Amino acid sequence: MKIAVIGAGIIGITTAYELSCDGHEVTVLERCGAAAEEASFANAGIVAPGMPTRDRSHFFSRPAPIRLGWPIAPHELAWFWNWHRARRSDRAQVNRAQMQTLASYSQERLHQITADLKLDYERSDGLLLLLRTEQDSKMMQAGLQRLRETGREFKELSALEARKSEPALSPDTPFFGAIALVNAEVANCRQFALLLKNESQRRGVEFAFNTEVTHIESASGVTLTVAGDSNAYPFDAAVICAGANSARLLVRLGIKLALAALHGYSISAPIREPLNAPRSAVVDQRHQVAISRLGNRVRVSGLAELGGVPGHKRADALQTLYQALHDWFPGAAKLSGGVQEWKGARPTLPDGAPMLGASGIPGLWLNLGQGASGWAMSCGCARALADLMAGKAPEFDLNGLGIERLGR
Ligand SMILES: Cc1cc2nc3c(=O)[nH]c(=O)nc-3n(C[C@H](O)[C@H](O)[C@H](O)COP(=O)(O)OP(=O)(O)OC[C@H]3O[C@@H](n4cnc5c(N)ncnc54)[C@H](O)[C@@H]3O)c2cc1C
Repeated sequence: MKIAVIGAGIIGITTAYELSCDGHEVTVLERCGAAAEEASFANAGIVAPGMPTRDRSHFFSRPAPIRLGWPIAPHELAWFWNWHRARRSDRAQVNRAQMQTLASYSQERLHQITADLKLDYERSDGLLLLLRTEQDSKMMQAGLQRLRETGREFKELSALEARKSEPALSPDTPFFGAIALVNAEVANCRQFALLLKNESQRRGVEFAFNTEVTHIESASGVTLTVAGDSNAYPFDAAVICAGANSARLLVRLGIKLALAALHGYSISAPIREPLNAPRSAVVDQRHQVAISRLGNRVRVSGLAELGGVPGHKRADALQTLYQALHDWFPGAAKLSGGVQEWKGARPTLPDGAPMLGASGIPGLWLNLGQGASGWAMSCGCARALADLMAGKAPEFDLNGLGIERLGR
C-alpha cells in the first residue's frame, strides 16, 4: 500500500519504519524542518515498563500532579475533571496493567531494532525512584502493591544500598531510600529517532519536511492537502501521528478527541565532573523530577502543566528543575552557559492510554496520545499498528485502546 504518516516525532518515525518493514511505500509528512523537533526533542528518556506513582488521590494534593496554567480554556478544564475521574475509575487498574504490558513489549522491540540495525545512541541501564522521607515511602506503597499485582519486578533499597548504584547522590539532602525498577533504562529519544529516520530513508521511506497537512479527505483511499500547495495528494491509507496537534486534524473529520497538551520542561547541561553526575537515571518521587545521564550531558525534566502560554517557559518551573539537580547532584553540571532549556507537550487523553488502531473513517489510522510514556511505548505501538493494518493480530491485547472507547 501507499501510506502517508502524518508527523515525524518518535511515534511517526517508528510507525514509518515498521510499515516499511512490511513492504509498504511510505511517505512521512512533517510540518517542521526536521524530525523529532517537538515533544520527542528533549524528554527525560526513561524507558520503563510500569512506573509507580505516589498516592495523590486527593484533588488538591501537593505538589499537584498537574499544575493549572493561565489562561486555561473551558475544554482544558473539562479535560482536567475527566482526568481526575479516570484516575479513580475501575478501568484505571486495567489501563495500568495494559500500559505495562505494552511498555514491556515496546522495550523488547526497541532492543530488537537497536540490535538489528546496530544503532548507537546514548543509553544506560537502571532507574532509581528516590524517596526523601519515610512519609514519601508510605505514599508509594499503594503504587508498589499495584506493581506486585501486575508482576512488575522492583527492589526496595535503603539509602545506603541506593548509593551503591548512584554514588554521587548528595549526602546533604534528606534521603530515606529508593525503589529500583528492574529492566528500566534511559536512552536518548531524539538520537534514536534521527537514526531510525536515516535507516527508514535507506529502506525507501520518503520524508517531506516543512509540509503541514491541513486537510484530510477519505473517499476510495485518503487524500491529503498541505499548506501553501493547491495539489491534493492521494494515498491508499494514512496514519495520524501528529502528537498534540492530532485532535485539530481529526475534528474536521467529525472525530472529537479530548487530547490535551500537558506541558513539561527539561534542562540539559554539559557534565562538569563525571564523578558527581548520575550513572543512569533517578526520579525524585516527591517532585516528579527525573535526572538522567545522556552521554556527556545531564538532563533534568518534569512538571505537568495544563493551560498557560505554550511558548512561554515559567521561571518557577525551571527553578524546580535546577533545585532538584542541586539537591541530588550538586556540582554535576556546568550551569554557567550552554544549558538548553526546553518545554514540550505530552499528547495526553484523560485516561492516560494511547489511541491506537482504525479511526472508523476508511483508510485513516491512529497512533497518538502516548502522553508521558511516548518514547517508552513507541516501538510497541508502531509494530502493533502495522500488524493491525496488515490484518494480523498484534502480539498484545489492544482491547480498549482504540476509538471504540469514545463510543464510536
Ligand atoms: C518534559 C517531558 C519529559 C518526558 N519524558 C518522557 C520519558 O522519560 N519517557 C517517555 O517514554 N516519554 C516521555 N515524554 C513523553 C514523550 O516525549 C512523548 O509522548 C512523545 O515524544 C510523543 O511523540 P509524538 O511523536 O506523538 O509527538 P511529537 O514528537 O510532538 O511528534 C508529532 C509531530 O507531528 C508534527 N505535526 C503535527 N501536526 C502536523 C501537521 N498538521 N502536518 C504535519 N506534521 C504535523 C509535529 O510537528 C511533530 O513533529 C516526556 C515528555 C515531556 C514533555
